[in-house]
Formats: sequence, C-alpha cells, structure tokens
Amino acid sequence: MSTYVFGHTNPDSDSIIGAISLAYLKNQLGEDCVATRQGNISAETEFILNKFGGKLPELKTSYAGENVYIVDFSDLAQAPKDIMEATILGIYDHHKLGDLTTSTPLECWIRPIGCSNTIIKEAYDYHGIEIPKDIAGMMLCAILSDTVIFKSPTCTKIDTKACKELAAIAGIEDYKALGMEMFIVKSAVDGASARELNTRDYKEFDMNGAKVGVGQLEVVDLSVFDDKKDMLFEDMKKMKETEQLHSILILLTDIMKEGSQLLVLSDDASKIEKAFDVQLEDSQAWLDGVLSRKKQVIPFLQSQF
Ligand code: MG
Ligand code: MG
Ligand code: MG
Repeated sequence: MSTYVFGHTNPDSDSIIGAISLAYLKNQLGEDCVATRQGNISAETEFILNKFGGKLPELKTSYAGENVYIVDFSDLAQAPKDIMEATILGIYDHHKLGDLTTSTPLECWIRPIGCSNTIIKEAYDYHGIEIPKDIAGMMLCAILSDTVIFKSPTCTKIDTKACKELAAIAGIEDYKALGMEMFIVKSAVDGASARELNTRDYKEFDMNGAKVGVGQLEVVDLSVFDDKKDMLFEDMKKMKETEQLHSILILLTDIMKEGSQLLVLSDDASKIEKAFDVQLEDSQAWLDGVLSRKKQVIPFLQSQF
C-alpha cells in the first residue's frame, strides 16, 4: 500500500513541489510514497513543472484508511474532509501549528522559516540523500515563491542558503531573475474571473468560532487591479454569504512596492481596523510593508477574535 504525500487545499507551489520532493526523498529511504494534490494548480506552479519537467501529482481528495505525510499545513480547514480517518505519519510545515491531532506518534518537521521546501531540503541533508537536478530546480522555485524572492519577513538565512545550494545543483546562475520570471507569470490576471482571483491563494481560518477567509494575490504591479476591484468586492460579498464568513479579506500584494492593498468585508470592521491599526476607506486600506499572510496578517487578526 502506498503512502500519500500532499499539501494544503487550493495548493500553491510549495504544496505541490513539497509533495513531489518529499515523496522522492521517502522513496529513496525505502518507503513507497506517491505525491498527490488536493486541487487545481496555479499558473505559477504550471510554469515550474514545465520548466523542470516535473510530473503533475495526481488529484486525490479522499484519504480515509490511508497512510499520509502532509506538507505546508496542519490546519483541519486546509485538510481533506476525511483526514481524521487517515494515519498521519509526518508533517513538514512552516506555519503556525494547526488543530490537526493524531492517534499515533508522528514525525514532525515544523520550523518558523520561509518555506516547507527549505525544511525538506534539510531532511535530504539530514538523511544524506542527493537531490536530483530537476527536483532541486523546482524546490528552488518553491522557496523563491514563498519568500517573495527573499523579501518576505518569513525569509531566513536558512532559506537563502538552501536556495544557493539548490541553484548550484540545478545549474541555475541567476536565480533571482528566475524568481522574477515566475512572479511575472503569477501576476497575470487578465481573463481570470473574480472568483478565480479571490480564491487563487485563499485560506479559511477558524478564529475562536468565527470563520475568516483570507486571500492573497502577489503581483509585480498593483495597477493590474485598477479596473478589477469592483468585481472582486462583488464576488467577496457572495463568498461571504455562501461560506458564512465573519470576515473576508483579500490582500493585493505589490512585491516591488513591498506592501498590500487590503480589501475587506466584515461583520465587524472595527476588528480589522484594530488588527492593523488602520482606518478603512471604501472598505480598503494600504498596509505598508505587509507581504506575509502567515506572519503579518493572521496573528494580528487572531488576536482580535
Ligand atoms: Mg502554502
Ligand atoms: Mg509554504
Ligand atoms: Mg504564499
């Protein structure tokens, strides 16, 4: 029986590449592991897979009775619905500890660094397993994506060092240029529906009984949203109703200006204003220096609930 390796719902590049890189490591260590995914991939992830000839993990959303390793999350809200009927053998993550529990002992690699793939790189080094060239290239891209090319406050020296080493293995000299190429792909919003944009990198959190949705779009120039905010708000309203959210926040992150335009709909907007020490105007505010949802948004929101 194979063990499945997968990342969070609505997978980003770290979740998809982490499933691939961890499954390969585990296979080298003699475990029969298969990389899977819980949802569709983004244009950015597609770019990475195409660039390095990576194989798209198979779509699998049910894991009852299976052995699994999970990557890039430990929140029930981001897990498959039947995760509690699976046996979690291990977690490789760099987020706050979530609410998943296990019935058996597990391997836990959770650290406050920039990317799950940095942690997986450390696991390769720990076990003395060589990283293949193609997997190294993909892991490099996942780290560049999660750390916003080292600009995110979540980025550590461990991440930059891992990138240097992975780039050497992959034979890539100018990896910051590769990162920019990737973010330009990620910035494409034309032709996408409001729902596609709002959910492109969207996560829901249980904050003391209140359901809060937080989406983020990272682009190289915020002007791409100039004529799109109305349609984003309209769709946020629908999402808030159908998902029965207390609040929905969409962060339009400008990776060059290094800050985020916050769009908010909330049952209690004063909570959001207090969280970020801002005054909302037209349900919006500029959050200077805010690039990271996990480090600069979620903890401050959570403290208000
Ligand atoms: Mg992620
Ligand atoms: Mg990640
Ligand atoms: Mg991210």
